[in-house]
Amino acid sequence: MNYDIALIGLAVMGQNLALNMNDNGYKVVAYNRTTSVTHDFLQGAAKGTDIIGAETLEEMISKLSVPRKVMLMVKAGEVVDTVIESLLPLLDEGDVIIDGGNANYPDSQRRAIDLKEKGFRFIGAGVSGGEEGARFGPSIMPGGNLEAWPLVKEIFQAISAKTENGDPCCDWVGANGAGHFVKMVHNGIEYGDMQLICEAYQFMKDQLHMSNDEMQQVFAEWDKGDLDSYLIEITTDILGYQEDGTYVLDTILDKAGQKGTGKWTAINALEFGMPVSLIGEAVFARCLSALKQERVAASKILAAPQAQDYSAEKTELIEALGDALLASKIVSYAQGFMLMREASEHFEWDLQYGSIAQLWRGGCIIRSVFLDDIKAAYDKNPQLDNLLVDEYFTNKIAAAQSGWRKVLAKAIEAGVPTPAMSSALAFYDGYRTETLPANMLQAQRDYFGAHTYERIDKPEGERFHTNWTGTG
Ligand code: NAP
Repeated sequence: MNYDIALIGLAVMGQNLALNMNDNGYKVVAYNRTTSVTHDFLQGAAKGTDIIGAETLEEMISKLSVPRKVMLMVKAGEVVDTVIESLLPLLDEGDVIIDGGNANYPDSQRRAIDLKEKGFRFIGAGVSGGEEGARFGPSIMPGGNLEAWPLVKEIFQAISAKTENGDPCCDWVGANGAGHFVKMVHNGIEYGDMQLICEAYQFMKDQLHMSNDEMQQVFAEWDKGDLDSYLIEITTDILGYQEDGTYVLDTILDKAGQKGTGKWTAINALEFGMPVSLIGEAVFARCLSALKQERVAASKILAAPQAQDYSAEKTELIEALGDALLASKIVSYAQGFMLMREASEHFEWDLQYGSIAQLWRGGCIIRSVFLDDIKAAYDKNPQLDNLLVDEYFTNKIAAAQSGWRKVLAKAIEAGVPTPAMSSALAFYDGYRTETLPANMLQAQRDYFGAHTYERIDKPEGERFHTNWTGTG
């Protein structure tokens, strides 16, 4: 009757979170649908800890202190609804249900609202950092019913990753599905960061003819500066990793998988009308990579540009690639925060952008020193329209842009696909352009569909139509 929290779902994430909670002094009851998994856990990884197991949900609930806190780490989707349905008859009003899986945020919106109506408190918490994060400190993005937050805040902040200053990478994000929305954007940004690194890798490998060791040195150097991040760090490791004298990287088929959170981000960007182009391109790049057979066939048919020799400019181009990575990354985060701002206004979540940057500072896949600069930008001006217009980032891009443009021009010349870096530059150029050609677009829409247009010499909102053909 005095256990702090129950954990349902003892696959990779659930087991490691339970052990993490136990390390932090919390008493955990563990439950898994397949009972043998619970037994194996108790006899294996949890042996010698204070974690206890339960064979039934009834037994699990009977061990908990009130108000009860039950965390689900089960397969995302319908399974979460099924488990919640079986829990409800066993719980009392005011008890807390937390879904720590990768829910699609509309599901968390719905669950938070439905459960509140029924008297329960729901939290949809994005958890990032994979197995190791879950075990030693993930980034946690909780949203849902605010009344539930004080009941779990201490546990969640204790088990979460910490920044270098010791601040937890876990804080309240906002109402209903806000936590899972922010987790989704995190994953989208992760797709973007990974794709950017892949584009730099391909240019170095195919155009600068660099060995894995040479590239490893470049990434190690980048990891000491503005690009210092977990993904650059693991890329450095990957480039050097050998088994039986063979680089494992060179043996991996170039066909990317995906589980859908990047796609959700891109879909939401389209639905909210936000130009989150880099993440969209990163998702499409994975889709294109998956068409391996077609690509192999096309490679024998479609003409490539003339081969280039950049050996004389190698050092310069490596530096330019670093500039392109940094500038594109700034654009990608600016786009991700634009999407969060739009959703926050739409759902009245009142998202705190500096705090979100801090949540991502440790524990998660996109952790990087760069997030400190984002936090600083929003601390300085919480109403900042766009990260790109923060002085720090404006100056960084200004310093990087010549290298960024130069290396992309070479990539185009040599036929190296750089969808993420190029779309970032196109966005930057569009965003900084006072007059875009949308006057022509509006004219076309009015011509064929009488959609009307606004005029530059008339008050905003006043609509005009032209009879372009002079007929009818
Ligand atoms: P998972 O493979 O996504 O799910 C397996 C767990 O779900 C098992 O405990 C399984 O129980 C349970 N389950 C499946 N169907 C069920 C049902 N109908 N009723 C009750 N339980 C059911 O596990 P995971 O990889 O640990 O991930 C858990 C959640 O965290 C997921 O939402 C995942 O997307 C998210 N997540 C995962 C990672 C990661 O790196 N793996 C990172 C962040 C977030 P049985 O043993 O009985 O089948």
